[in-house]
Amino acid sequence: MMREPCGNGHSWRQDDSPHDECGVFGIYAPEMDVARLTFFALFALQHRGQESAGIAVTDGVRLIVHKDMGLVSQVFEEEVLQSLPGRLAIGHVRYSTTGSSEMRNAQPFARTRDGSFIALAHNGNLVNTDELRAGLVRNGQVFESTSDTEVIAALLAEHPSHDIRVALRDVIPRLRGAFSAVLLTKDQVIGFRDPYGVRPLVLGRLENRYCFSSESSGLDIIGARLVREIEPGEICVIDEEGYQIEQVVDRRRSALCVFEFIYFARPDSVMKGQTLYAARRRMGETLASESPVDADLVIPVPDTGNSAAIGYAARSGIPYGEGLIKNRYIGRTFINPEDRVRKLGIRMKFNPLTSAIRGKRLIVVDDSIVRGNTTRALVRVLFEAGAKEVHLRITSPPIIYPCFYGIDMADQHEFIAFGKTVDEINRELGATSVAYLSLEGLMQATGVGDEETDFCAACFTGDYPCEVPEYLRSSKFRYEESACGAVED
Ligand code: SF4
Repeated sequence: MMREPCGNGHSWRQDDSPHDECGVFGIYAPEMDVARLTFFALFALQHRGQESAGIAVTDGVRLIVHKDMGLVSQVFEEEVLQSLPGRLAIGHVRYSTTGSSEMRNAQPFARTRDGSFIALAHNGNLVNTDELRAGLVRNGQVFESTSDTEVIAALLAEHPSHDIRVALRDVIPRLRGAFSAVLLTKDQVIGFRDPYGVRPLVLGRLENRYCFSSESSGLDIIGARLVREIEPGEICVIDEEGYQIEQVVDRRRSALCVFEFIYFARPDSVMKGQTLYAARRRMGETLASESPVDADLVIPVPDTGNSAAIGYAARSGIPYGEGLIKNRYIGRTFINPEDRVRKLGIRMKFNPLTSAIRGKRLIVVDDSIVRGNTTRALVRVLFEAGAKEVHLRITSPPIIYPCFYGIDMADQHEFIAFGKTVDEINRELGATSVAYLSLEGLMQATGVGDEETDFCAACFTGDYPCEVPEYLRSSKFRYEESACGAVED
């Protein structure tokens, strides 16, 4: 299991997953209630970030931005939605880490530009933020946040061209790292994506209007249909004329974060032509072929292990069942990065179904292991509930390199797999056995067999698609005590 921040900050992990990331949406539809449509789309993208939510809307004259800490349904109550009239809108949901979990970092960010305004919402993480920010500060720009998104907005705001496309052509090549973004002007919404396509962004059509979403599930909820993905290095403008696409920076190697397939995106979303439910099921099937074991029951770590566990059970012929019940009503209070949450332990999130697992040899399918603290607790809970054997089957290879593109998964020395053999990892986790999906098996299971459509898999291989400055690398590779004072999940 894992989770992501948009921006910098100390690592904190509520569970044992890399943590995702942010979700963006944008729509041009003058005859529709664009704020409400954006609200619904953000609701469908809520899994990508639960710390804050925001919508920027314009009628072509006035820009209104409403953003706050909390879930989409908490931030946008009915009276708020009714106070957001407009013809075009963008929206954002955000996951953040301890250091940046603040209102001032909530998105979208608005700036004045060329006598008018822009608003920007972004998913990803730049690796040259400090350098860009220093240049902007020298030019007299003032920042209200620590977010790299505000840096991109400031670069566009200070650009001298009246034509926003000219500004984008100049600014995008200066950005390094991962970015999928939606930009609002008084009469256009523009989606753009980094030259590696690390974070997803799709174009959808709703009646005769167009919209952007991080995932196709954000389109489905409003009745829009998927037109195409925004390709790496492209900008796409949607306005009164429909949509126009332009390649503004050369597409490099295509490097979508493979964790979108393993864990982040919803199983009902479609990426690179693949439904993620089917891809995850294949991961489970492949894992069953690579690492079979005699057992009585296959159970998922819900919900992210569900599809893969179904695949593992189907391929192995061992029955599938539920063995852990997830508490689905953990609200914002309980997902805040606070120490007291950690102290409540694993049982706040999962409770074992004792009657189903007592005396059984279990195969437990999960998507990933980062530090191992949650997994270790889970193994203990299953044995305490009477499991005879606990065989962990993980649908990703061991994570041994940190992410610099916006996924919160701790520093290298904190990874349980760093510098250890699988047997040593197993001893630490206290399971009967543990096995990981091979990188080759993972790539095959994605169903994306074209050499052109490559993935970023740097957290397994160390092969970072976009160069990471040395000072950033050393900050995450260096051994040190956690800045948060604890490394417990
Ligand atoms: S290093 Fe690459 S694959 Fe790993 S989490 Fe980051 S973007 Fe995804």
